[in-house]
Amino acid sequence: MDRMDVVLPPAAIGILGGGQLGRMLALEARRSGYRVVVLTDEPPGSPAGQLAHVEINGSYTDAALLDRFLAEVEVVTAEFENIPDACLQAVAERRPLRPGRRAIFTTQHREREKLFLRDQGIACAPFRIVENEAQLQAAVEELGRPCVIKTAAFGYDGKGQCKVTAETDLTQAWRAFEGAHAVVEAWVPFVKEVSVVGARGMDGSMAVHGCVENEHADHILDVTIAPARVEPATADQALALWRAVAEGLDYVGTMAVEMFVTADGGVMVNEIAPRPHNSGHHSIESCETNQFHQQMRVICGLPLGEARLHTPAVMVNLLGDVWPTEDQAPDWSAVLEHPRAKLHLYGKECARRKRKMGHFTVLGSDVKQALREAREIQARLGRR
Ligand code: AMP
Repeated sequence: MDRMDVVLPPAAIGILGGGQLGRMLALEARRSGYRVVVLTDEPPGSPAGQLAHVEINGSYTDAALLDRFLAEVEVVTAEFENIPDACLQAVAERRPLRPGRRAIFTTQHREREKLFLRDQGIACAPFRIVENEAQLQAAVEELGRPCVIKTAAFGYDGKGQCKVTAETDLTQAWRAFEGAHAVVEAWVPFVKEVSVVGARGMDGSMAVHGCVENEHADHILDVTIAPARVEPATADQALALWRAVAEGLDYVGTMAVEMFVTADGGVMVNEIAPRPHNSGHHSIESCETNQFHQQMRVICGLPLGEARLHTPAVMVNLLGDVWPTEDQAPDWSAVLEHPRAKLHLYGKECARRKRKMGHFTVLGSDVKQALREAREIQARLGRR
C-alpha cells in the first residue's frame, strides 16, 4: 500500500449525490471517524446530507460550489452514476476520484456500457444501437420479437424501456425515444436474475459478497436472497463475469453487476452499477465487511476487508407503497419485533408510490427460513 494514497480519519470524504447509498456510506465513514461532505442537486436535508458534516446543495456543474466542495475533501466518490462528465472531469483534476471518471462515464450510459462489454468479450444479450425509426425497424427485424428498447442515457429501474412484442407498432414505440440514442436488446428468457457486489482495490485485489438472487416487482428490486439458489457452476460464472468487468474497467471501489441466468445455467450481464447497490444491502448484516464499509476502505486507499457472507440473509425493499399515506409511517412492529430483522429507513419525507424509502434484512440459518420470515413481515406490513 502506497502511503501517499492513504486517507486516514479524520480526513473528509466527499460524496457526489445525496441518496440512500451516500447515506449508508456516510454512516460507515462517520463510524470510523471520517468527516463526510455531500454535494447534491437535491434540496437541503437529502438522505445523505442528513448524515453529512457538510451538505452542499446545487448544480454539479456550478464552479463555485465545486470549489467549495473540493476545498473541504481529500478524496471523492459518487453514490450514483448520472453525474455530468464535466463535473467528474473537474473533480478528477483536483482530487482522487474513486471509482475513476472512465468507469463512471462508461457505465452511466447504456450504449457505452454495451460497447464496453462487447469489446471485452463479456457475455450480454445481443443488442443494436439505434438512432432513428428505420434503424429500430432493422434492429427488431434482426433480433426478433420480443425484444426491448432502452434509452441509452439516464435509465434505471425499468424507466425509459419499452418491450416490443408481436403486437407493438414500432412507429408509435419510437416516439418515446425520438431524438435520443437507444439500445435494442434481444429478450432474454431468464430463469433467475442474480447479481454480484464486490470491490476492487487500487492494487487490483478483489473481494466479493457472493452471488445473490434478485426478485423484481414492476421492474424495481423487491427482494434479494443471499446466497443465490443456483448451482455452484452458475455462481462461479457470475463471479467470473464480475471480475472481468472490474478488471476491464480498471475499477477502484464497490461495484455491482446485475445478470441473467438462462435455463441452461448460462449467465450474461444485464447492467453494471459503479457504486454500492441495492442488492448489496444485505451485506450490512450478513457479511464480515459490508459494501459501504468496503467502499470507504477502497476510496481511502486501505486494503480490502474480508467480504465473505457469514450468514444467509434476505433483504426486502420498502417502497412508498408500504406507507398508509404519503406522510404517515407504517406500524413497524412486524419488523422491529423480529429477533433477526433489521430496519433501515432513508430519512425521506414523502412516501410516494414506488419510491425507495428503506429496506429490512432478515438473517436465517438458511435462505429458506430467512425468505419465509421476510415474506411474513412483508405481508404484515401490507401496502396501500
Ligand atoms: P434494467 O433497467 O435494464 O435493469 O431492466 C429492468 C428489468 O427489466 C430487469 O431486471 C429485467 O427483469 C427486465 N429486463 C431488462 N432487459 C431485459 C431483457 N433483455 N430480457 C428480458 N428481461 C429484461
